[in-house]
Amino acid sequence: MANNENKVAIVTGGSRGIGAAIAGRLAGDGFTVVVNYAGSAKAAEELVDSIEHAGGRALAAQADVSDAAAVARMFDRTEAALGGVDVLVNNAGIMKLATIADGDEAFVDSQIAINLKGSINTMREAAKRLRAGGRIINLCSSVVGLYQPTYGVYAATKAGIEAITHVLSRELRGRNITVNAVAPGPTATALFLDGKPQGVIDNLSKLAPLERLGQPEDIANTVAFLAGPDGAWINGQVLRANGGII
Ligand code: NAP
Repeated sequence: MANNENKVAIVTGGSRGIGAAIAGRLAGDGFTVVVNYAGSAKAAEELVDSIEHAGGRALAAQADVSDAAAVARMFDRTEAALGGVDVLVNNAGIMKLATIADGDEAFVDSQIAINLKGSINTMREAAKRLRAGGRIINLCSSVVGLYQPTYGVYAATKAGIEAITHVLSRELRGRNITVNAVAPGPTATALFLDGKPQGVIDNLSKLAPLERLGQPEDIANTVAFLAGPDGAWINGQVLRANGGII
């Protein structure tokens, strides 16, 4: 706990799912956490309340990550309120599934805007502003290696972030800032579960040799390792946290 005190972490998409688990875990580890959200104000406020109730520090910050000016304002407000930023967790994301033949322009644009451009928007601000010792952790996906039909556009946005993870880790040479990605497999959140028949969920649950779905806490544990003192020597890596599916 002591090593992370006075450190500030922004978790994008922290209102629900994996992001909420990450925000809760980092707050428990001593970080002051900025819980970013796009539309789920109530969920974000409730998470902030529960973190504070448990003795942690947090605040909620609305910003659509696909809007570069809104992201810059969120960093401005964080620096004004909390003195600086040490950790950025790029977790906000959407997943839409369609074959390349069937996915229309809006289908493509929305995923590129939020998953790819959104993460670049936050990394731009983090690259300029993160304090020495900082960490950038990007949520990618194990689907990058699975080549499943209908996942093409989503996987492409995540593969792009993997590439930028490697590049940015080198651009930040000399700043003592690490840049890594965590690539979950199927994880029990709305993004994964919504709209899938139970049989499909059951099959995907059995993909990993560990024979279960990932839980948001499994991913939060991995992110917490990279954000905390034990992860200091990991840089420019993609860590697949998926129970062994690939
Ligand atoms: P989720 O339960 O659907 O939650 C998504 C979060 O992202 C919400 O907090 C949402 O906030 C936020 N968000 C969406 N659009 C946003 C925007 N434009 N600006 C800011 N925040 C936005 O998803 P999840 O499963 O936790 O996924 C989290 C990350 O893990 C994503 O990057 C996803 O691609 C990745 N991932 C998930 C899985 C999986 O199986 N679940 C597997 C691999 C990778 P609002 O509610 O306020 O919109």
